[in-house]
Amino acid sequence: MYPARFNYTRAESLEHAFELLTTYGEEGRSLAGGMSLIPLMKLRLVSPAHLIDIGRLAELSKIERRDNCVALGAVVRYAQIEESRWLVDTFPLLAEAVSVIGDVQVRNAGTVGGNLAHADPAGDLAPAALALNASVVCRSAKGIRTVAADAFFQAPYTTALEPNELVTEVEIPFPGNRSGGAHLKLERRWGDFGNAIASVQLELREDGRCRKAGIAIGAVGEVPLRIKSAEGVLIGERPEREAVRAAAEEVRKAVETIEPLSDLKAPAEYRREVIQVIFKRALALALERAQSSIPLSDATTSPS
Ligand SMILES: Cc1cc2nc3c(=O)[nH]c(=O)nc-3n(C[C@H](O)[C@H](O)[C@H](O)COP(=O)(O)OP(=O)(O)OC[C@H]3O[C@@H](n4cnc5c(N)ncnc54)[C@H](O)[C@@H]3O)c2cc1C
Repeated sequence: MYPARFNYTRAESLEHAFELLTTYGEEGRSLAGGMSLIPLMKLRLVSPAHLIDIGRLAELSKIERRDNCVALGAVVRYAQIEESRWLVDTFPLLAEAVSVIGDVQVRNAGTVGGNLAHADPAGDLAPAALALNASVVCRSAKGIRTVAADAFFQAPYTTALEPNELVTEVEIPFPGNRSGGAHLKLERRWGDFGNAIASVQLELREDGRCRKAGIAIGAVGEVPLRIKSAEGVLIGERPEREAVRAAAEEVRKAVETIEPLSDLKAPAEYRREVIQVIFKRALALALERAQSSIPLSDATTSPS
């Protein structure tokens, strides 16, 4: 399939990208890794008249360590995350999430900002961002604002982004000592989008009880779901036996409140069941990692 005719401009700077977005309005569309937009254009599900390529903007390609968080530029590629020893050690959940996206080609081209902005219900980065308590920095010619991941995903393929606004960064707070995370996805074949995704981030106190928890699921409902009630039952408890059962029960209840996705690969009933299995496995892995984690101050300290 060939896309409809379109014009292509490579933005020379972020300011230039905003100028082009303002000029073209609804006819314009930003292009980052192209891994979702180009297939949609080839299927003629979307036909923007002007593509504004932001994918090579140096301003959006940085991985910056700040006081309380790491800031990933919007066009940081999944492969850049996989290749950063520091990111892999500090955010195993994030590293695991990018490692299960598509195949090597997709991971070399696909971007963090593009993934979040596209908001595919089965995307891997949305539940990861929710469990990690991340924030999405959104910017337009008019200004800049930071939106909590909790408020960013609004409906399938729909986010809190305003017209002509771009995701410019994703901020992920540093985990405390004794933290661990896991991202598990159940797919039909390796490289497929998931039929059930669970992201779990835990921080333990010195006595082994849970200080903080981040729990989110994806590919089950139309939007990724952060399950605060499951987080609540873990906090102050040892995340073992009873607490795990209680958290899994909260996940089950949360899924009861939504209409699960249903298709030939994975009917609703199947997704309802397997999400609990995947969640419990992710929780066990996150706990194991938190229990064996080294204090951050002893870890490698450079993002590259
Ligand atoms: C074979 C294949 C398998 C895949 N498997 C998975 C998978 O398992 N898990 C998964 O999560 N994803 C998967 N994907 C999707 C992939 O992760 C895409 O890279 C991602 O969805 C979009 O990122 P992108 O940089 O390619 O964005 P693009 O395709 O360039 O853009 C996607 C949309 O986001 C908008 N956009 C892009 N960047 C920004 C920005 N900074 N600000 C505002 N809007 C922006 C564009 O205008 C467009 O509407 C797969 C894709 C393919 C082709």
